[in-house]
Amino acid sequence: MSDGPPTTPIESTALPVAPVSAVWVRLRRAGREHGPLLLLVVTLYALATASALVAPWMLGMIVDAVREGAAPARVDVMALLIVASLLVNAALLLGAVSQSIRFGEGLLAELREEFVHAVLRLPLGTVERAGTGDLVSRTGRDINSLSLMVRRSVPVIATGLTTVLVILVAQAVLHPALLLAWAPSALLIWVTSRWYARRAADGYLAEMSTYSRLTQGVSDTVEGAHTLEALGRQEWQDLRTDSDVRRTYAAERYTLWLRCMWYPPLEFAYLSAAATTFLVSGWLFIQGDLSLGQIATAVFLTVQMSKPLDHMIDQVDNVMVGFTALRRLLGVRFAAEDTRPGAEPEPREPGTVEIRDVRFGYAPGVEVLHGVDLDLRPGERLAMVGPSGAGKSTLGKLLAGVHLPGSGSVRVGGVDLASLSLEERRERVILLSQESHVFRGTIAENLALALDEKDDDRARLWRALEAVDADAWVRSLPEGLDTKVGSGQDGLDPAHVQQLALARVMLADPQVLVLDEATSLIDPRSARDLERSLAGVLSGRTVVAIAHRLYTAHDADRVAVVEHGTVAELGTHEELLARGGSYARLWHAWHGDT
Ligand code: ADP
Repeated sequence: MSDGPPTTPIESTALPVAPVSAVWVRLRRAGREHGPLLLLVVTLYALATASALVAPWMLGMIVDAVREGAAPARVDVMALLIVASLLVNAALLLGAVSQSIRFGEGLLAELREEFVHAVLRLPLGTVERAGTGDLVSRTGRDINSLSLMVRRSVPVIATGLTTVLVILVAQAVLHPALLLAWAPSALLIWVTSRWYARRAADGYLAEMSTYSRLTQGVSDTVEGAHTLEALGRQEWQDLRTDSDVRRTYAAERYTLWLRCMWYPPLEFAYLSAAATTFLVSGWLFIQGDLSLGQIATAVFLTVQMSKPLDHMIDQVDNVMVGFTALRRLLGVRFAAEDTRPGAEPEPREPGTVEIRDVRFGYAPGVEVLHGVDLDLRPGERLAMVGPSGAGKSTLGKLLAGVHLPGSGSVRVGGVDLASLSLEERRERVILLSQESHVFRGTIAENLALALDEKDDDRARLWRALEAVDADAWVRSLPEGLDTKVGSGQDGLDPAHVQQLALARVMLADPQVLVLDEATSLIDPRSARDLERSLAGVLSGRTVVAIAHRLYTAHDADRVAVVEHGTVAELGTHEELLARGGSYARLWHAWHGDT
């Protein structure tokens, strides 16, 4: 073990984290929106605490009464009052805790809904850059931490704080000078808490980002298990996971270290307060300002504070983790927020595409597209071909508005995509890639996802299935469109999944469709038939197909050959063959001509 403070590894997460002020703004809003309930909770806690003070108060009075030789009946009444106050206290606490749970659960539900809403609106490019680990960790671990804080820590802290406040008021009522006994402790608590708070925010943020990294690593391992096995890189992945675990360990150790440094002075502060209360009340007794019974009350009150304070301190870790989780959850909203200026006027020509001098790179200094120009007429079918890594998918993503160009512009229907909101971009252009997802539910529900309103027009769904040659197999299923698919249900063949994804696009009916190997899992002959029947339905829609089978290029209106991040050749199949350049070579190689 090293002596110095452990280091904090700071991870960079591409998804933003909300500033502390944003959390306070959100909590204040919750306070405003649930004002009456919050007031009820605070009042119940305050009353519960006040009722708990009856016991020490009465004990003090019993001491004085016995000393003065009062009648035993009077003492009995006081003892009964103590019992009654304990019962009232239990009832009030029950009410306070149940109301605070009501408040907490309501707030938790709102925050969760806001988070899910923000996640669903995240730009695809942002999710790609951030990696899924960060998002998965926020959706799982952070939400759990927040729940733990709201369910467990907030009631404990609410009880603790009201108890401390009410007890301090009670002591001030006994004698204002008793508060002086708290002065050294308050100073110590303030100084050490500031020391802790200054370091804890970053410490917990770093800790939670290491969990994101760990989650990303684990999901990479699961997703890439076959690749790792095939390449014999299991050990390498093991080492990476070990290193991620070490970072998480170091980050956890740092926050633990912070707590270890902070707790002892805190404990000392409130234990020593009991001792100074003795001193101050003893002095007040000598001055004749306090009776012996009042001294007993003052000391009992101080001691009574130690339990809620202990409980509060136990919750510090949960609160810090929960608070940081909230910063991370609210941060997703910033990434999803629409900061685009208002859309330009409606397009004159839906389906036109104008790409002007587009440059783009994923990482600074590494340009992938080096000034691409391309114009498409409405209804045109363009095939993009070229070697792997040339930039075809990247160009497809820019065309769909997934990423915005570093310089230059992409206009669809006469409107610059950069001026549109994410939703407006998605209405105009849809990108369909190789990976499609089938959601748990019926086939009809999966198709209806593409429709804005709930549409029960079965004939429309069947037309879309026919267009993608999927009607026959869907009809052959026992429950047809109502067959349940998705996780836990009948597994669908990957080719069928692609067909359903294509049918969804038909229903969404965008102006421009970008297909990135969207038929790659379907056998070549059926894929060609499918592309032809799609062409029939999509007539009037502009289609850009990134093709790895050259018949797609043969069937298209024009072909763009992408090489080294630029469009190297552009023309019809015949024109490019006649030119005898890259495309002609590719075609002949594909055909086996010499
Ligand atoms: P193609 O579709 O022609 O195979 P891509 O557009 O996928 O080519 O890739 C072009 C270049 O951009 C490649 O060098 C690739 O490594 C890089 N690239 C693609 N996607 C990403 C990404 N998400 N992050 C960083 N680099 C990427």
